[in-house]
Amino acid sequence: MLDYIIVGSGLAGISFAETVLQKDKTILVVDSEQRSSSLVAGGMYNPVVLKRFTEVWKVREQLDIAYPFFKSLEDKLQVTLDHKLPLLRRFSSVEEQNNWFEASDKPNLSTYLSSQLIKNVNQGVHAPFSFGEVFETGYVDTALLIEKYRSYLKSSKQYLCEDFDFTELTYNSDFVTYKGIKAKNIVFAEGYGMLANPFFRDLPLDGTKGELLIVRIPQLKFDEILKAGVFLIPIGNDLYKVGATYDWEDKTDAVSEKGKEELLEGLKSVINLEFEIVEHIAGVRPTVKDRRPLVGHARESSRIHVLNGLGTRGVLLGPFLARELYQNIEQGVPLDVNISIERFYKKKL
Ligand SMILES: Cc1cc2nc3c(=O)[nH]c(=O)nc-3n(C[C@H](O)[C@H](O)[C@H](O)COP(=O)(O)OP(=O)(O)OC[C@H]3O[C@@H](n4cnc5c(N)ncnc54)[C@H](O)[C@@H]3O)c2cc1C
Repeated sequence: MLDYIIVGSGLAGISFAETVLQKDKTILVVDSEQRSSSLVAGGMYNPVVLKRFTEVWKVREQLDIAYPFFKSLEDKLQVTLDHKLPLLRRFSSVEEQNNWFEASDKPNLSTYLSSQLIKNVNQGVHAPFSFGEVFETGYVDTALLIEKYRSYLKSSKQYLCEDFDFTELTYNSDFVTYKGIKAKNIVFAEGYGMLANPFFRDLPLDGTKGELLIVRIPQLKFDEILKAGVFLIPIGNDLYKVGATYDWEDKTDAVSEKGKEELLEGLKSVINLEFEIVEHIAGVRPTVKDRRPLVGHARESSRIHVLNGLGTRGVLLGPFLARELYQNIEQGVPLDVNISIERFYKKKL
């Protein structure tokens, strides 16, 4: 009997798979490879909410788990995934500079926000009010991670490429069975696909579509992540990811003219250089109405679990939530109320 069947191999599914493999558990991952938010993500991580200059929830813990987690994946897959890069937040006014300095004085934020104003020296960039630097930032190459991790799973016969068929799933108090394969537990990490899952589709996952451009800007030569309305992530060879849009109405993965225009407008407000669009991609982030993750087990069975609601911050939340769920299943450690789906079950009682 396997320890886990995991449905989904985006950031959530991979985080859980790797967390349990590191504990010598056995797994089978099922994924239809049809739509994935992780494949189109910017992959950026940063410890601060850059609109309001506040600390991300439990971010120290998240970073401390994410760093060794991605390092061990790099060693295992023999690729570079975690690109540690400084992030420069462009200021749009003196008032914003003042808010920043006020925030950088707070004990919880002083580790992450520089108290120096960084003057712009790049002719191609428009930043009359300078930048503030955020520490402990970077981006994870999520598309490369998924490609390499799935190859690893396939070559080690731990992977089924198919749409999960719920009519083939049975369960009792000791184990679950899928197409004759027994496992002690099943974890659903389907991202926005969760809405087709009969055990969890009532949870308030609403989804936020995001679009992103990859552009070539040969003259820019900017080596930091730049945040100024849009973000620009330098990914090498004069290429930059430019993102991202937020659309709460359209739930498709189709790129749109409207999304492209919005990103181009944002880009042109930061740089005054020639550029070429190389790629335009879109996906639906698994966002939740109360902006918190969805972790826990189904009402029908304590062998059926969900790991979802990574929202806009899958890179840091994935490894952290995977550990929380693992400790909950294996050691009975209660889930934090901020992530547990019990908050919705209780409301309905
Ligand atoms: C444009 C954009 C930019 C983003 N930028 C960032 C960023 O810079 N930093 C950051 O941290 N986050 C970012 N995100 C958010 C991040 O992408 C998500 O938080 C994260 O990818 C969610 O991962 P997931 O594994 O839950 O879902 P997904 O990546 O969507 O993975 C779900 C997987 O489940 C599979 N699946 C679903 N249903 C089934 C089924 N029935 N049978 C079989 N397989 C199934 C799918 O094929 C898919 O592979 C961005 C998102 C978008 C759209």
